[in-house]
Amino acid sequence: MPDKPHILIVEDEPEISRFLEASLTGLDYRVDVARSGLDALKISTAHPPDVLVLDLGLPDMDGKEVIRRMREWSRMPIIVLSARDQEAEKVEALETGADDYLTKPFGIQELVARIKVALRHHSRREQMLENVYNHKDLSLDLSRRKASMKGTEIRLTPTEYDLLSLLARKAGQVVTHSEMLRDVWGRNSEENDHYLRIYIQRLRQKLGDNPLNPTYIFTEPGIGYRLVEDK
Ligand code: CA
Repeated sequence: MPDKPHILIVEDEPEISRFLEASLTGLDYRVDVARSGLDALKISTAHPPDVLVLDLGLPDMDGKEVIRRMREWSRMPIIVLSARDQEAEKVEALETGADDYLTKPFGIQELVARIKVALRHHSRREQMLENVYNHKDLSLDLSRRKASMKGTEIRLTPTEYDLLSLLARKAGQVVTHSEMLRDVWGRNSEENDHYLRIYIQRLRQKLGDNPLNPTYIFTEPGIGYRLVEDK
């Protein structure tokens, strides 16, 4: 039987951390709690968790500083917890190296879903198995640069393909606007938000995806886009 996944919760509000600890322990995770940034750094150095769940508003340091220091030595998945209406802060956290975020208040199911995505991504990244994406009618073969719907290849321009494959490599996780612009159009393109809107619109048309009720590509307002997780 595999070891229970080890989650470190970094949260200074006792009610929230107690609730998360009890819920996750009940779901068979091994849970540690840190109440400050320094605690978080100490505990994760001594016992590196499989996933770090990090509140951005901590008493002793900014949560983004915790991310920055972690990323000096570790690629462990980091999911940040942030208040509503803090889009700029979420974007900064993602750009600093967080893998995903949840907006407070959130349900425990939502958190568990994100933890599972993070664990899967991490192990895939280690094993280099992330070469195929399948969800409903859409399949991507990332090693052959092919996309198809219901088995029929769809014609994508190289840029459209690059965008879709970036989203697929991070399926289930949010990808920020500037990460997409950098990755697909190169550095110095980060101001060109309008490219993204145009290309996402074209992709959605080719996938037959309705932005108001999406099957594949979800908009994270003010932050980026998320391709639904494959199975
Ligand atoms: Ca807090």
